[in-house]
Amino acid sequence: MRKKRYILKFPPQSGDKPLSYHLVRDYDIRINILKAEVRPGKTGSLVLELEGTKENLKLGIQYLEDNQVSCEPLDKKIHWKQERCINCGNCTAVCFTGALVMDPKNWELKFDPDKCIVCELCVPACPLNLFAIDFRE
Ligand code: SF4
Ligand code: SF4
Repeated sequence: MRKKRYILKFPPQSGDKPLSYHLVRDYDIRINILKAEVRPGKTGSLVLELEGTKENLKLGIQYLEDNQVSCEPLDKKIHWKQERCINCGNCTAVCFTGALVMDPKNWELKFDPDKCIVCELCVPACPLNLFAIDFRE
């Protein structure tokens, strides 16, 4: 089993198709929705984490693309220069996934990469420029 993150963009007419149901039932893929922007009658986008066998993930992505859903792997990561952080908390105000939070025990910043969807909002929010996009896998 492997986990992989994708950005999905789907056309308005796909809204009435049970795409996620088929991913689960036909390809045994577990779905974790990390971010959703869905407006009725408009193009929508989702950031998903999919978990399944390598073969099933491939087949599931193919199924989505056959249904006019574009699937881009999310291979970017956020790199944080923790050693220079002054724990001002600015970045926590923009991180809506909860990947960046102040630890109530010592008021130091904590970063949870598993919650990060690489929205990049923290990059301009840090006065010391401590976040960078890492494009390596
Ligand atoms: S890119 Fe930054 S703001 Fe966005 S989810 Fe990741 S840590 Fe939070
Ligand atoms: S904004 Fe920058 S300096 Fe402030 S807590 Fe976040 S990473 Fe640290």
